[in-house]
Amino acid sequence: MPTRCLRDVALDPVAEALERAATRSRRIGLAFAGDFPLELFEAFGLHGVCLPATPRETYPQADAVLQAYTCGFVRSCAEAVLASRLPAGLVGTVSGCDAQTNLPGVLVGAGVQVPVLNLRLPIRVGTPASQRQARAALVDFCHAAARVLGVPLDPMALTQAMSRYQDVRIRLTGLFDDLANGGSALRAYEAALAARVLDPDAWMARLDAEPASPAPRDGVPILLSGSVIPSMQAVIDLVDVGCRIVADDTSTGMRSARRRFQPDPADPMDALADSLVPPEPRGPERLGDPDRPALVAMRAARAGARAAILLRQKFCDPQAFEAPSLIAALRAVGIPAVVIESDRLPGLSGRDRTVVQTLLEQETGGAA
Ligand code: SF4
Repeated sequence: MPTRCLRDVALDPVAEALERAATRSRRIGLAFAGDFPLELFEAFGLHGVCLPATPRETYPQADAVLQAYTCGFVRSCAEAVLASRLPAGLVGTVSGCDAQTNLPGVLVGAGVQVPVLNLRLPIRVGTPASQRQARAALVDFCHAAARVLGVPLDPMALTQAMSRYQDVRIRLTGLFDDLANGGSALRAYEAALAARVLDPDAWMARLDAEPASPAPRDGVPILLSGSVIPSMQAVIDLVDVGCRIVADDTSTGMRSARRRFQPDPADPMDALADSLVPPEPRGPERLGDPDRPALVAMRAARAGARAAILLRQKFCDPQAFEAPSLIAALRAVGIPAVVIESDRLPGLSGRDRTVVQTLLEQETGGAA
């Protein structure tokens, strides 16, 4: 079986997750949120996957059981579980929004045989109490996982997985930081999406084996913000329309990549909890730094962004609540922004393309 390139992995993550789990002879631990620590799955002998959104026109099984106002990301993940497209051993959700919180009950009610556990991370982060709450949530999750899987957590596997996933996040941070210096956004996002389905060693090997594609020199420098990006195709379409992404504030990108813990921790669970509760780089799903919009705007201005695109999953309340303050903060530093709502299309709709083109033309006086 030929090895897929990172772009192909990013375009068809389900196929790659299936193949990679089979190669490792493991069932899949499937996370329904970008801030779920995949290290936990690896510590129970599962192949950790955070399935990126896979937009499609209909999700027959998920549409039948999920509330109409569930975001497309959760809907597409639920479809993968309900249609038994993945050999899942455990599904993990994270508290933080209604779509995530309601999911375990909905899936269990729909007769899903795979155990579904919720990791109850604190909603307010950046406080001493939040570290304790995060640690307690991790311990609870691990006890429940050991019970339903019938195997204990392997502390050595946890420590190794934490270190390897952190190495991946450090490389990803470098790719996203490099956007301001002419780095390729396509490369950064395909690597970020592939990191969600490949194990760290396989991801490193593919990243090192593939020469970086040159970034287009022209285009209007923009900030890309949002929770989960709808798909790799959406990024390809944005670049095609004339965006040069120089700064990222997405859950798929920097918000996940910048999670850190101190190396060689005395207690891995403490370290994991520490890594999950700093106010930065959390997104609006957690109550952290009230100055987040201003910080994002400042980072965008420093990177040279002249416009901003806020990608919003339809029905995502955390993003909807934050959008006005983020738009105001960006405007205050001279960066106009538009919101692009994603739902069931794999890339940008014709209307979205027009909205983005209009924004870019305003910035170039019609020369975009
Ligand atoms: S996209 Fe929004 S609504 Fe969907 S899981 Fe993420 S935070 Fe929740």
